[in-house]
Amino acid sequence: MINDIYNDLIMESSMATHNKQEMINPTKCELGHNPSCGDEINLQIKMNNNIIEDLKFTGHGCAISQASTSMMIDLIKGKTNEEAIELINIFIKMITRETITKEEKDKLLFLSSLENISNMPARTKCASLAWYTLKSLLNNL
Ligand code: ZN
Repeated sequence: MINDIYNDLIMESSMATHNKQEMINPTKCELGHNPSCGDEINLQIKMNNNIIEDLKFTGHGCAISQASTSMMIDLIKGKTNEEAIELINIFIKMITRETITKEEKDKLLFLSSLENISNMPARTKCASLAWYTLKSLLNNL
């Protein structure tokens, strides 16, 4: 069920540490918690007017939650608040098995490889934790 590309991306991202750091002087932080698995993340954002200039996270959890967070940061950094919200909504639709168009899926770039997780209901909360946390953060800026 899990293909190699997906596996490689998860492994690569969960080992990548470039996004997993404490940020100096963030504009805002938001804690995300997935009790069903024990995943915890602290997202830290730096805004420059309407642009997400920097995004980092600290925390711990399973490989899927950590990889999804790091991959999300790679996709979202440099986007405007509105662009980020659009991408978050597409990702959440994909991971909760709602229909998304090919055009929407293309916007997720390498994140579309996580679509297979929508077939594993127990893991969708792990994959979507960072996205719900970021959405809440952006909505409360
Ligand atoms: Zn998890």
